[in-house]
Amino acid sequence: MSARFIFITGGVVSSLGKGLASASLGALLQARGYRVRLRKLDPYLNVDPGTMNPIQHGEVFVTDDGAETDLDLGHYERFTGVNARRSDSVTTGQIYSTLLTKERRGDYLGGTVQVIPHVTDLIKEFILKDTDQEDFVLCEIGGTVGDIEGLPFLEAIRQLGYELGRERVMYIHLTLVPYIAAAKELKTKPTQHSVKELRSIGIQPDILLCRADREIPMSERRKIALFCNIREEAVIQALDVGSIYEVPRRYSEQGFDNEVLKSFNLKPVNVSPDLTRWDEILTRVQNPKGEVTVAIVGKYTGIGDAYKSLGEALDHAGIANQVRVHVRWIDAAGFEKEDVAKALSDVDAVLVPGGFGERGVNGKLAAITYARENKKPYLGICFGMQLAVIEFARNVLGIKDAASSEFGAYEDKDGKGPLVGLMTEWMRGNVLETRNSGSDLGGTMRLGAYDCSIAAGSIAQKAYSSTSISERHRHRYEVNMAYREQLEGQGLIFSGLSPSGHLPEIVEMRDHPWFVGVQFHPELKSRPFAPHPLFSSFIQAAMTKGSQKKAA
Ligand code: GLN
Repeated sequence: MSARFIFITGGVVSSLGKGLASASLGALLQARGYRVRLRKLDPYLNVDPGTMNPIQHGEVFVTDDGAETDLDLGHYERFTGVNARRSDSVTTGQIYSTLLTKERRGDYLGGTVQVIPHVTDLIKEFILKDTDQEDFVLCEIGGTVGDIEGLPFLEAIRQLGYELGRERVMYIHLTLVPYIAAAKELKTKPTQHSVKELRSIGIQPDILLCRADREIPMSERRKIALFCNIREEAVIQALDVGSIYEVPRRYSEQGFDNEVLKSFNLKPVNVSPDLTRWDEILTRVQNPKGEVTVAIVGKYTGIGDAYKSLGEALDHAGIANQVRVHVRWIDAAGFEKEDVAKALSDVDAVLVPGGFGERGVNGKLAAITYARENKKPYLGICFGMQLAVIEFARNVLGIKDAASSEFGAYEDKDGKGPLVGLMTEWMRGNVLETRNSGSDLGGTMRLGAYDCSIAAGSIAQKAYSSTSISERHRHRYEVNMAYREQLEGQGLIFSGLSPSGHLPEIVEMRDHPWFVGVQFHPELKSRPFAPHPLFSSFIQAAMTKGSQKKAA
């Protein structure tokens, strides 16, 4: 049987948690014994979110095969454990870029190129591609119904419903049922309007998922059903919950997965979903045996979405160690040396996450100095590793102008080049990849999964219980191997290298209980069911009172 397609649209307002709802449905269908894949269709014109500001757009999620994608793909991976691929994320920008290349090549044979059918055909091609292994493909359409730029996507999924038939396509619409305090009532009108809008495009939703902050009375659900031409049982309430890990169970209790299967006329492989692993996670989250506080010194603090996977990975490490992990966000910009002790003396660990550009560099360096000198567990991710090396070179080796060519000028006195510099070529498997300072900004970083060999006996090796790993990357600069001997001589060890031995992937400090910098982004591979070993080890170190005492 070929894959069935579930299209998820959103109405009324954005930020209703369409990504989480889609991911949860994926998890529920898996718990019923099906194979699933999730996809995101984003109507914006950027080719990918790689060049978009995380403050505006949230984190850029990177797949194993090196695609820079929407953060919702992170939710999908975390909830289903299925690795996303480049082909699971598409934007209007990508569609048009493909279309215009075809047009210039003459593929359209002199025809007029139009939104319908040419753009919609490409969208359909994307939706159907690489789906033969799946029972269900869940496609989330970004944005809200009514957005001008979303129209071609809605038209494409409407056509697919017609072409593949009701046995293979269904539509779910996520809406908001707001509570109006003055009237003391939940209001169904926005939902009615949103569905009306969808129907005017030719899409009749099969299921309505209604977000509300309180129980929606049966009478209101009935009203929604009547006005929106939907069976009563298919109006599912999606109430706010305390933990995201509760969502699959709650949705299932409301009959969500049952309705989906019913809509396809399917008798499920598992009669009731097996949600044991979700229940176990929830038990651990709700019954922590202790707590730790991690300071994250970064640039986009205060906006949780900018470091989405990072926050999740810390939560997972908390699940692994059964402790609650509190995060203290510290804005690196304006964070001066004098503030450091006050802000960090009572935290259990320090983390400097990935980042770009000069702003906040000094604050991050000050935090690293503090963690190094006071023996606080430190995890430096990507930029956080590069800065840890710079901090060490400046303050321990005495190379005062040690820097990255991403910021700060350096004088190449000994011909070694900058401590952290632009790498112009590197190997991906057997393929040589190149970049230079004039390369496009989009899609030209070292992206996606790369292997790394770890030195036996290192903190990293103990954490991973392995000497050979694969992790995802997203960066333009690399620590310069020419400085290895000097750094190692003073105690900063290169404990992880690319298989060729040319690129440093992990550094760690010899005389420190737990100080690790990684050039990759381990947070992208952490899952609630498989917490990332490095994060688990980091949080375990944070729990060790010994390191705190030394800090005092
Ligand atoms: N700005 C650094 C680089 O491009 C680090 C990137 C990151 O932290 N993701 O190499």
